[in-house]
Amino acid sequence: MSRIVFDRVSYLTPDGVIAVANIRIVEGIITEITDEAIACVPGDERISLPHKLLLPGLVNAHGHAPMSLLRGLKDDAPLAEWLQAHMWPAEARYTAADVRAGAMLAMMEMIASGTTTFLDMYDHMDVVAQAVEDVGMRAVLSRGIIGLCSEVEQAAKVAQAQAFVRDWHGAAQGRITAMVAPHALYTCPPALVETLIGVAHAYRVPLHIHLSETAHEVAQHVVQYGMRPPVHLQQLGAYDLSLVVAHAVHVDDAEIAAFAAHGVSVVHNPRSNLKLASGVAPIPQMLQAGVNVCLGTDSAASNNNLDMFQELRTAALVHKGITYDPTAVPAHAAWHMATRAGAQALQLPHVGHIAVGMQADVIAIDVRAPHLQPNAKLPSHIVYAASGADVTDVWTAGKRLLCNREYTTIDEERVRFDVAQACARIRA
Ligand SMILES: [Zn+2]
Repeated sequence: MSRIVFDRVSYLTPDGVIAVANIRIVEGIITEITDEAIACVPGDERISLPHKLLLPGLVNAHGHAPMSLLRGLKDDAPLAEWLQAHMWPAEARYTAADVRAGAMLAMMEMIASGTTTFLDMYDHMDVVAQAVEDVGMRAVLSRGIIGLCSEVEQAAKVAQAQAFVRDWHGAAQGRITAMVAPHALYTCPPALVETLIGVAHAYRVPLHIHLSETAHEVAQHVVQYGMRPPVHLQQLGAYDLSLVVAHAVHVDDAEIAAFAAHGVSVVHNPRSNLKLASGVAPIPQMLQAGVNVCLGTDSAASNNNLDMFQELRTAALVHKGITYDPTAVPAHAAWHMATRAGAQALQLPHVGHIAVGMQADVIAIDVRAPHLQPNAKLPSHIVYAASGADVTDVWTAGKRLLCNREYTTIDEERVRFDVAQACARIRA
């Protein structure tokens, strides 16, 4: 039985203040947080973290891990050109081994920068799932489906999505759960989206989709179908499911109200949206309306890193800049997006903050760094001054994945070798 006791550790409470306590973890669950000394029993691992602050692990609620191999392949292009002329041709050359190499690279980066849970949408998802099981992260995975192909090929992809949910939902001691993921309404015909909504209903899993990412996408959809994408998605029945939409940059007040009314979670990906010049999602309006807004990096090909600290800092800054309102998306709201809101969207009620009964998905940052001094306002520093490079230690479900910046479950040299091999072919 795995048992850990953190001795007199500084940690961020669910109320957003720093406290000092002794914390016990048994079998991956936080079982005790107390001022009293915790008596150790044989088999306990006692850990003291001087000069460090324990935080809940970050939840990256939207990404495509294997695309890490395509980092920097094409910068400074709009979404449609970036996707069709650069990403898709390179992705057509991916083998299952390349998917694993990219997923391993992404997990190395996410662990090192404090992410313990991530959502992923991609092909060869069984390979990603196996990598997640091996590495020890928590992940919500889906076989992303692009339906720009024959009906026979579409049916084969639907079968793969079904098989993935059947085989992996709840796997790796519950660390892996599954979703169903039509890529977007502009890449999947309505009948295919309806089929996938049916699959999500049948398996009682959420649906994940890119939605209203660019103005061009919305305008094209109106021309083709006579309605805006969120209205269409609702009409197809997706709002009756647990639904997580990525981006929602170009949405109007009625669409935001419908998200709130139907419990649709929105994943905000501010840096990817900025880099692709897609725009800035109206997040203050969504928060005002009561929408559950969480945070994602999107892929390293459009970001270009997976550092959730940078993402949450951007989320806290960009809305102030465009609204001239310094109270827009305050620090605590950005932090909530990166942790508890992500856990809610991903249906992981025992993830996202440090409290008794929660999963021991925790990270430590070294607060001696000059940019985190003085320590008087650490909750503010976490949002406005910290970066992923401050992370020194990571546990997921009580298992240590990073120890003083050293990986415990990943052979770094092997990943670097595999990535080089894969890229030599894919990016040739
Ligand atoms: Zn995406």
